[in-house]
Amino acid sequence: MAISIHPAVDRGVKAGSATFAGGTLTCKCGSAPVTVSLKGNVAFDHVCGCTKCWKPQGALFSLIAVIPREKLSVSAEERKLKIVDPAAVIQRYACTGCGVHLYGRIEKKDHPFYGFDFVHPELLKEQGWAAPEFAAFVSSIIESGFPPARMGEVRARLKELKLESYDCLSPALMDAIATHTAKQKGVLAA
Ligand SMILES: [Zn+2]
Ligand SMILES: [Zn+2]
Repeated sequence: MAISIHPAVDRGVKAGSATFAGGTLTCKCGSAPVTVSLKGNVAFDHVCGCTKCWKPQGALFSLIAVIPREKLSVSAEERKLKIVDPAAVIQRYACTGCGVHLYGRIEKKDHPFYGFDFVHPELLKEQGWAAPEFAAFVSSIIESGFPPARMGEVRARLKELKLESYDCLSPALMDAIATHTAKQKGVLAA
């Protein structure tokens, strides 16, 4: 059986639409779902193997992207949302009915990704969101119980899907974090 990375990419990565202008994220509740409105496209879409991101049933990876926080607003059933771990840097707002994470927000103003919310684009009803570009925290799937001996199959499948594997974030994002840190330390001009 072929390795299932994530339902949104298992049949091949779908190209995004250049004119995608946003849409509505919806949780999995059969009635009174939580909805979140996105006023724009997502960026840095990727699959993530970490143990913190919400993953659909049976998927090894989550699908996660960012959007500026001012472009995100909860449009229905906000009362059902609860922060998964208030102590975590990314405050992930999950639906208490179905467990789906609707968005993650960083409140620490000095964090490199402050200003961006994390969302799962597969929850959008609309199609055409920016396609996933890479795979982050690949080795971390072992922390969820995936057999280490089968990592070669996972990396081969990711390669087939043209999702470059990284065991942290992509070089562009790692560079952004390091640049932020260097500017805070004053070793680079702000
Ligand atoms: Zn729900
Ligand atoms: Zn993750």
